[in-house]
Amino acid sequence: MSVSQTPSIRTLDKSGKEITTVGFQRFGFDCEVPLDTLRSLYLRPHYVTVAANAEEDEAKQLEQHAHFTRGSELYQSKSIFHADTHSISYTTLSRFPPVKLLPPTQRKRILVTGGAGFVGSHLVDRLMVLGHEVTVLDNFFTGSKTTVSHWVGHPNFELVRHDVVEPFMIECDQIYHLACPASPPHYQFNAVKTIKTSFMGTLNMLGLAKRTKARFLISSTSEVYGDPEVHPQHEDYWGHVNPIGPRACYDEGKRVAETLAYGFHRQDGVDIRVARIFNTYGPRMNPFDGRVVSNFIVQALRGEDMTVYGDGKQTRSFQYIHDLIDGLIALMNSDETRPVNVGNSDEFTIGDFATLVREIVEKVQKEDGELPTRRVEIVYKPMPTDDPQKRRPDTTRAKEVLQWQPRWTVRMGLEEMVRYYKAKIVEGSM
Ligand code: NAD
Ligand code: UDP
Repeated sequence: MSVSQTPSIRTLDKSGKEITTVGFQRFGFDCEVPLDTLRSLYLRPHYVTVAANAEEDEAKQLEQHAHFTRGSELYQSKSIFHADTHSISYTTLSRFPPVKLLPPTQRKRILVTGGAGFVGSHLVDRLMVLGHEVTVLDNFFTGSKTTVSHWVGHPNFELVRHDVVEPFMIECDQIYHLACPASPPHYQFNAVKTIKTSFMGTLNMLGLAKRTKARFLISSTSEVYGDPEVHPQHEDYWGHVNPIGPRACYDEGKRVAETLAYGFHRQDGVDIRVARIFNTYGPRMNPFDGRVVSNFIVQALRGEDMTVYGDGKQTRSFQYIHDLIDGLIALMNSDETRPVNVGNSDEFTIGDFATLVREIVEKVQKEDGELPTRRVEIVYKPMPTDDPQKRRPDTTRAKEVLQWQPRWTVRMGLEEMVRYYKAKIVEGSM
């Protein structure tokens, strides 16, 4: 199997400064970690090589492996592909990535529901590297064990298959409640289940927070604003949601989840945090989840037409995953109990965004010496029902109370995500 080496990526922030770490010290909670440490966990989740044969001996493979994993080979499993039987042998890690050694007074027991999903797995990586004890609850509906498998067996980590619509007992200090499908095709696949997850799941996790006195953060969404009549969307805007449309199971589900959180807060003193997350993208997003960023990149990489829904004039604002994780951790550890928008205010029409993704995919392909046979076309498909026309966060509150604002440009985030999907294609896992 031929493997291309990832060129080292130099990432510049919005002001042109190089990003070498993510996170920061806020509210007595230090969440800063080197970017390379995190990258070694997602840019090369594992390495696939072909079984040794007469032509390629083991020593050569080891040399190739070391080169490919660029110094983090100890923390990578090496899976072996047997071409003759078309089978794969998975190996385990030889060593876990180093985690901080925290004194017991600083080490928190943190529950992450939906921790095997896209956002959850990045949060888990950060909390683990920081030295906390992390338990993931997930039913693997849209998440996958592979997103956190590099931590399985670590003494600070536990992975539990559990559906949050059922109660769960554990002792913990903080709960990040993320469990809920987030992409429109996934949450509409079983609308009743989505509502149950939002309502009963949140009820159960709030009950757990009440009993344990754990601080509780819910990942709400910009969808609570529906198809907004106010632009950009500020936290005080009440929203414009169709309660019976195909998106209602998610939008109304999250609205009632917020209502529940404030009910527990006022009635029982549960210490809540509400993050209203705007469109977020990054590595580990399920390539086939139907969301626009994954769709466009996968289509462009495969040389397929890129599908813009409607006339492409609707807008979205895209935030990179590391900025979101910084915002979630800052909010959890702050004193802010009002809802806080966490998003990037760089707004694109979906038509312009398609052109940008195509340009970035072409740039990365050129850097890797690949010459596509044709330029992919942008084609137009019918607009889904109730698709919001405009979306951009007003992040004044996050700036004021969390001293947080996005650092990643959309272009930098997209480049990294294109490389992640390219690596997946090379590995044969996509
Ligand atoms: P995801 O689908 O990748 O992850 C959701 C995770 O929750 C998956 O691992 C899934 O298996 C798990 N899950 C779903 N139902 C469950 C249940 N009943 N019990 C236990 N586990 C369950 O989605 P994501 O993008 O990582 O989103 C995570 C959270 O952030 C969601 O609550 C979502 O509403 C919110 N959010 C995400 C975005 C975004 O752009 N990614 C935007 C706004 C809000
Ligand atoms: N979209 C698109 N092509 C796709 C997928 C999505 O044009 O292949 C559009 C979709 O209609 C919406 C926007 O992109 O206007 C964002 O869609 P997504 O599903 O990512 O998230 P949403 O913000 O709608 O929940």
